[in-house]
Amino acid sequence: MHMRSDAVVLFGVTGDLVSKKLFPALYELTRRDRLNVPVIGVARSPWDDQQLVTMARKSVLEANDEIDEETFDGLAANLSMISGDYADPTTYQRLAERLRDAERPVFYLAIPPAVFGSVVEGLAAVGLAGRGRVIVEKPFGRDLESSRELDRTLRAAFDSERVFRIDHYLGKEAVEGLYAFRFANRLFEPLWNNEHIDNIQVTLAEAFGTQGRAGFYDTVGATRDVLQNHILQVVALIAMEAPASDDTTAFREAEAAVLRQIAPLSPESTVRGQYAGYRDEPGVAADSNTETFVATRLTVDSPRWAGVPFYLRTGKSLPGTATEVVVEFKQPQRSLIPAERGTATAANLLRFRLGRGDGITMSIQAKSPGAEVASRPVDLSVDFGSALGRRQEAYERLLDDAMDGQHLRFARAETIEQEWRIVAPILDLPAPVLSYDKGTWGPADAEALAGGWHAPYLR
Ligand code: NDP
Repeated sequence: MHMRSDAVVLFGVTGDLVSKKLFPALYELTRRDRLNVPVIGVARSPWDDQQLVTMARKSVLEANDEIDEETFDGLAANLSMISGDYADPTTYQRLAERLRDAERPVFYLAIPPAVFGSVVEGLAAVGLAGRGRVIVEKPFGRDLESSRELDRTLRAAFDSERVFRIDHYLGKEAVEGLYAFRFANRLFEPLWNNEHIDNIQVTLAEAFGTQGRAGFYDTVGATRDVLQNHILQVVALIAMEAPASDDTTAFREAEAAVLRQIAPLSPESTVRGQYAGYRDEPGVAADSNTETFVATRLTVDSPRWAGVPFYLRTGKSLPGTATEVVVEFKQPQRSLIPAERGTATAANLLRFRLGRGDGITMSIQAKSPGAEVASRPVDLSVDFGSALGRRQEAYERLLDDAMDGQHLRFARAETIEQEWRIVAPILDLPAPVLSYDKGTWGPADAEALAGGWHAPYLR
């Protein structure tokens, strides 16, 4: 067991991520008695301790219906602020002074990647890197080369055991459920191959647009924002072989191994789209060729998956918000039971609903009522919220793990490099993006790519 961190430092404490995710996570950890250490916010904005507490309270209230005052007071008593420029050595000297009693602080870099280098060097210069852990957010670089460069920067100050790379999908209980589903159930594992599975679809759809962050989004696009990290993580969990044992190293090795078997994506099997009106948003270039939608076909070069296409799509301003994996099984070897009159034969589907209201829906064939021996699809469905109760939020688990020095839910450098290798051929394609109307499933060409997508369950 690694020793638990005895201080938390949030760089970029005035920002969006801290307010949306990290304050609520710190509050939850305090509530669960997992956090009673100094929490130091760092930013250039001239906030004092009281402003920090006020902002923390506001974000906890936004994330929860009610606030437990005793818990919040416990968190507030640990909060303090350091304002300073990241290029100024005295910022780090003040931090080192504040952390003089901390043996294992954890540093969360909730700042734009452009300032990672200065912060890491600043921490190293005052001797804090040598005894601390560092948490970095996605996007981890912009491509393979810049992600390696970023890794070199981090590793110059922190050894690999102390670097925690967040892809928060790995922290989501619903996503981890894919792993549990596959390896805790005997039922489906024998069918989990190209003999029985026809194709697999992954959809990560957002009903909303850029939410006031169009300027940032325009430099990123859907492939870098979501496909390279979240979607490929989901594919890895669906497609991976069983790890050699139940330890962290074996899990991460199995995850990296399946990514190594994925062929680079091909521009010919990729459709990039941009919703109408995107170029009029503040901060977006008038001739922007950034994709707000991408659909593609992926193949896994392994005996298990030979000939099984994985269709992936993600986009903004789509008809609903959902994250789903649909596993489509092949038809029975002999067709004895026809589909109900007037309907097409439907395949068995196993649908993992990974977003809000997560659960599993299995579509099977049942005998349709009446004299005819024919079948129609019916659903077997479970909502995990009702069946299992409250699950933890991703950031709460990830912070808790990083404080314990546990790497299970963090990406290895190699995993991230493999992900960049896979998406490399479709980054920055010169071909113009195809326009689509808001509230549709992207450009018409995307529909043809998968020969028809299974519409996600929308709520
Ligand atoms: P913000 O754009 O909100 O920036 C965070 C803080 O960084 C700002 O409040 C600002 O604080 C400081 N900052 C901004 N620009 C600079 C600069 N040029 N130099 C130094 N400091 C600067 O970022 P987010 O909170 O949205 O994201 C933080 C990190 O997390 C990023 O790496 C982002 O990619 C990643 N991320 C964010 C997600 C989100 O939901 N927001 C989701 C996933 C990843 P001040 O001016 O007070 O110093």
